[in-house]
Amino acid sequence: MDYFLSEEQQMIKDLARQIADEKIIPIRAELDETEEFPADVIDALAKSDMFGLFVPEEYGGLGKGSFELCLAVEELSKACLGISTVYAANALGAYPILLFGNDEQKKKYLPDIASGKKLVAFGLTEANAGSDAAGIQTTATLDGNEYILNGTKQWITNGSHAGIYTIIALTDKSKGARGASAFIVEKGTPGFTFGKKENKMGIRASTTCELVFNDCRIPAHNILSAEGRGFLVAMKTLDQSRVGVGSQGLGVAQGALDEAIKFASERIQFGRPVITFQAIQHMIANMATKTEAARSLVYSVARYIDSGARDFSKVSAMAKVFATDTAMEVTTDAVQVMGGSGYMKDYPVEKMMRDAKILQIYEGTNQIQRNVIGQSIFKEVVKNKKG
Ligand SMILES: Cc1cc2nc3c(=O)[nH]c(=O)nc-3n(C[C@H](O)[C@H](O)[C@H](O)COP(=O)(O)OP(=O)(O)OC[C@H]3O[C@@H](n4cnc5c(N)ncnc54)[C@H](O)[C@@H]3O)c2cc1C
Repeated sequence: MDYFLSEEQQMIKDLARQIADEKIIPIRAELDETEEFPADVIDALAKSDMFGLFVPEEYGGLGKGSFELCLAVEELSKACLGISTVYAANALGAYPILLFGNDEQKKKYLPDIASGKKLVAFGLTEANAGSDAAGIQTTATLDGNEYILNGTKQWITNGSHAGIYTIIALTDKSKGARGASAFIVEKGTPGFTFGKKENKMGIRASTTCELVFNDCRIPAHNILSAEGRGFLVAMKTLDQSRVGVGSQGLGVAQGALDEAIKFASERIQFGRPVITFQAIQHMIANMATKTEAARSLVYSVARYIDSGARDFSKVSAMAKVFATDTAMEVTTDAVQVMGGSGYMKDYPVEKMMRDAKILQIYEGTNQIQRNVIGQSIFKEVVKNKKG
């Protein structure tokens, strides 16, 4: 289907595809085994200005929007979801600065983010605060012109590889979510170390680890927005970035579909390619239809966000839920279409199926997204009744 990409958007997509083909596909299986960080790929993405896509031109970026970012993420995800997670989580970490930073903070941090010199990580989750993010216990106590951070963030993507961290911590424990604030923390700050590195089912090329703050002093001017606005920063950041998780789902679904079609066209059983069996054709038809539907929704939502829409939390959640459920379904079916071969590490769909699972969990589980969508619809009903 033609999505009427501009020449520039097509170039971005083609460039991401080229990096995926030349730099990612040859090493993805090895990185999945070794859990090694994809430093060379990150370097190639940086040299191609891919980290600057969504950063305004005045801060060294290309000044593009969510849509262009989604195009790049989709292409990277077709090849390796682990590597696309490093890239997409970087945007997640950068959004609090982009959306809520003051000019001084933007001038200081965004150029290094745009150039890819420094990766960013977003730290919200803790051992006792996953879906219930308001339950965080990390504290930030004002002491003169510094905040002192204490606590541990769990399962943070880009963990030890980032140079800049956006962290949500409590400045007033008595107020719960209303007492949370957002901060920028730099790697190397005394009192900031890394804890357990996770051994994961999938996306193994991306590092997931603990961030440990032990009397970590940061300048008071590293607060984003104002005290008490941390939860808002986190929620607006996630609204913005969730469509990107949708584009990850779309990418891995397309990657698995392509592999399944290729295999089914070449695999001969009963004297004919297995794609000629109606049972296989119907599976492929469903996989292709859902993937295209995911693409339409993800692209529409990304374009809607870029149009300057103010409230897109419902549609962003819809794009994430639909595209990531599609990813799980399509990657699982790709393994089925390919039979025993699909189950073997000789083919990439086994990895794609393991990788896809995380998309239904991180940046808010798909159950939580359905809560968001349902509550939003209920609010509209109440509003319409009043109006
Ligand atoms: C690989 C990986 C990378 C991650 N990267 C980051 C990161 O970079 N930064 C960051 O801050 N966090 C990150 N996370 C954390 C991630 O966002 C959380 O795992 C996620 O929000 C879910 O929290 P939880 O795992 O604690 O699940 P829980 O909240 O314990 O939920 C368990 C189950 O209960 C369901 N559930 C809980 N509450 C409700 C409810 N009210 N209604 C319906 N169902 C409910 C959930 O959907 C889930 O099925 C990452 C996690 C993983 C695994």
